[in-house]
Amino acid sequence: MLGRAVRIAAGVLLALIMIGTGTALSLPATRHIISGWWNLPDRLPALSDNVAVHYEPGAEDYARDVAELLPAAIARVEAAQGRPFAYPVALGVYVTPDAYAAANGTGSLAPVGTTFFGRVILSPKLFWTQRRRLPAILIHELSHAHIQGWLSHAQGWTSAGGYARLPNWFKEGLAVAVSGGGGAELVSEAEARAAIRRGEQIEIYDAGSLLSLPDVRFERPPARLEPSWYPVVLAYREAGMFVSYLRESDRPAFDRLMVAILDGRPFAEALTIGYHDNVQSLWQKFVESGDGPK
Ligand SMILES: [Zn+2]
Repeated sequence: MLGRAVRIAAGVLLALIMIGTGTALSLPATRHIISGWWNLPDRLPALSDNVAVHYEPGAEDYARDVAELLPAAIARVEAAQGRPFAYPVALGVYVTPDAYAAANGTGSLAPVGTTFFGRVILSPKLFWTQRRRLPAILIHELSHAHIQGWLSHAQGWTSAGGYARLPNWFKEGLAVAVSGGGGAELVSEAEARAAIRRGEQIEIYDAGSLLSLPDVRFERPPARLEPSWYPVVLAYREAGMFVSYLRESDRPAFDRLMVAILDGRPFAEALTIGYHDNVQSLWQKFVESGDGPK
């Protein structure tokens, strides 16, 4: 019993670092992480023909849908991020909102998927009301899990800090770009371009912090703040477009950047290795790339 308590304490500590959120220092967030750790999907039944896919009892059909999408989703992430997965990823799919909230590390039903401690956790919404989003959200979360896997492979315990120190705009932007828009579906590229032209731009920096919030933040927030999901999705779309620009404008540089990141280099260093440039200058080029003749 004591052994289990110690493991949970260690796991929570790691998760705090891995999620890298300032809010994790507050009690409610810590409670959600402990809850997630208690409810890791690994303990749920798994499909007999795909042991990576765990499901809440009653979610077997959902698990089968995910298993069917999985090989193509994994191949897409591996091709885009330049390597196979360091470890097989465990997934958890849920049919009841309470079980999902207890397992996803945030305690919230708002995200339709999370990557918690290297596991991909998928909301009941992706089986019911938002079924169409499932393929892209699965790829989005696998993008996060792929990086988490490599950083823990490269650096052991300290990797959790390594993941947290990658800028959120990059992690989310990469996941959006690799998944063809997963997580940013509700704001179009044209809308985001117009927002960027108005100066409603995300904050671009080259080092995350253990104390930074998990969101992608704005340098200057959009004038439109309603509905409440709008600024969040706009930020994801801008981040996704910037990462797509980085990849499409210089693929060899992007590949060098990914190798350096997956090897555990700090982001600023990885960017220099990749692009021989700094992030502010690259963002400026991205902004200008949208100013051409229309
Ligand atoms: Zn994400």
